[in-house]
Amino acid sequence: MCILCEKVENAEDFLIHEFEHSLLIVGEHQYFKGYCQLVLKEHVADLTDLTDKVQESFFKELMISAKAIRKVYKPERMNYSSLGNVVPHIHFHLFPRYQEELNTKIKLDPWADAELFDNFKTTEEQISTIRELVRKEL
Ligand SMILES: [Zn+2]
Repeated sequence: MCILCEKVENAEDFLIHEFEHSLLIVGEHQYFKGYCQLVLKEHVADLTDLTDKVQESFFKELMISAKAIRKVYKPERMNYSSLGNVVPHIHFHLFPRYQEELNTKIKLDPWADAELFDNFKTTEEQISTIRELVRKEL
């Protein structure tokens, strides 16, 4: 079983919201404040493998999620990352980007600091705070 299928099955702790096609979960680190992930419930590798109808609904779920995160954290912009190189199971990383970090690392790919992510592992307290705040805005 792929690690995202496992995550979908055991999302309880990190789960913010279950949509029809996806789960919105709190990200494993908070290097970017408010970082969340949207994971398709079904194991599908590529967005183009979804039916038109599911593509539309999933995109809507992505937009609802991003809007809620933006409302809570008011980032300068959102970065949407969906590569599938490491885990070929459709998911989006929702990285809020902030003015203060954009000043020093202008327009850098959010993955540029990936080796630092582990130093910012999401705490239990952060999980419940993010869950509560984002849920209210969905
Ligand atoms: Zn999977």
